Amino acid sequence: MKIKYDCIVIGAGPAGLSATLTLGRARRKIAIFDNGTNRNRVTRESHGFLTRDGIKPQEFKNIAFKELESYPSVSILNETVIDIKKDDQKDLFLVNTSNNKSYVTEKIMLATGIHEEFSFTQMKQYYGKSLFSCPYCDGWELRDKPLAIFAENNEHIIHLTKLVFNWTKDLIVFTNGHQISNKVRCDFESKNIKVYTEVITNLHGNNSNLESIELESGEKILRSGGFVVPSFYRPNKFAEQLNCQFDEKGAIITDGAGRTTANGIYIAGETEKSRPSSLMTAAADGNKAATSINMDITIERFQNIC
Ligand SMILES: Cc1cc2nc3c(=O)[nH]c(=O)nc-3n(C[C@H](O)[C@H](O)[C@H](O)COP(=O)(O)OP(=O)(O)OC[C@H]3O[C@@H](n4cnc5c(N)ncnc54)[C@H](O)[C@@H]3O)c2cc1C
Repeated sequence: MKIKYDCIVIGAGPAGLSATLTLGRARRKIAIFDNGTNRNRVTRESHGFLTRDGIKPQEFKNIAFKELESYPSVSILNETVIDIKKDDQKDLFLVNTSNNKSYVTEKIMLATGIHEEFSFTQMKQYYGKSLFSCPYCDGWELRDKPLAIFAENNEHIIHLTKLVFNWTKDLIVFTNGHQISNKVRCDFESKNIKVYTEVITNLHGNNSNLESIELESGEKILRSGGFVVPSFYRPNKFAEQLNCQFDEKGAIITDGAGRTTANGIYIAGETEKSRPSSLMTAAADGNKAATSINMDITIERFQNIC
């Protein structure tokens, strides 16, 4: 006979780990699955998480796993979840993994994060080492350096350039073939920020440290790092398969406390918003969604008899 979990958490990033800690402490029977594809695995250090500023991403995870060992009702499983099916008659979910195993649970928490896609694929090589998307996470380490801004539409170009200008005044914007308005160009030039709208043909560097950007004309512009606006997507269709509802921007609709519109399905972290946030925000989301799960289980089981 299969173990029936109170909740299966899919994803051991800060969202899923924090939810699992809260649920383990609430004496719930939890399995947390992870396959090591956390978004920040490409970077050397994580910043801005109170008490853990500068920690290596894997060390952050290891500390969280170690803390979870104190709670005997929690199981940590290194397996990839491939699909989730609802058994409507029993009001349970069946979670199947790539190892051909299946697990039964009352509730599901999706905390599988998001992934990024770059318009210029070579950026992947530098991402997390000298090229980043979040100035709050890595701006301090790149302060006062000659940096590149890679962005392709006016809104992104203005937002990122203004923001990064706070960390360095030595900025050059690369739009990779996209035009910018005369007004934006004029604003930038007044602050000595050059804009290249030519198509990028190559990035040069050493050991993932960016050194120069080569343009279609053959000109190479020296830069020692930068910030980029990637596009983001959810790496699976679990929310669609489980009949969650989405808003007009494609984000999963929730009650603001982790409950989706599908009964028994909860969500936390970047997969909820379908956009990037931070370790701290994802952990807070996980904690909040876990209290919703625990409250719902409590209400369902603590039946009023009188
Ligand atoms: C280069 C880079 C640097 C960053 N630096 C910082 C920083 O300094 N400070 C900061 O606050 N934030 C930083 N971030 C952002 C931070 O990584 C995210 O905000 C945070 O990881 C989001 O947490 P999450 O739990 O939502 O998702 P994730 O951390 O991405 O975790 C999702 C988890 O789900 C698991 N998973 C996915 N699919 C499956 C599946 N099918 N089966 C089993 N497991 C699955 C993955 O293995 C992964 O561990 C950085 C991001 C990047 C890319």
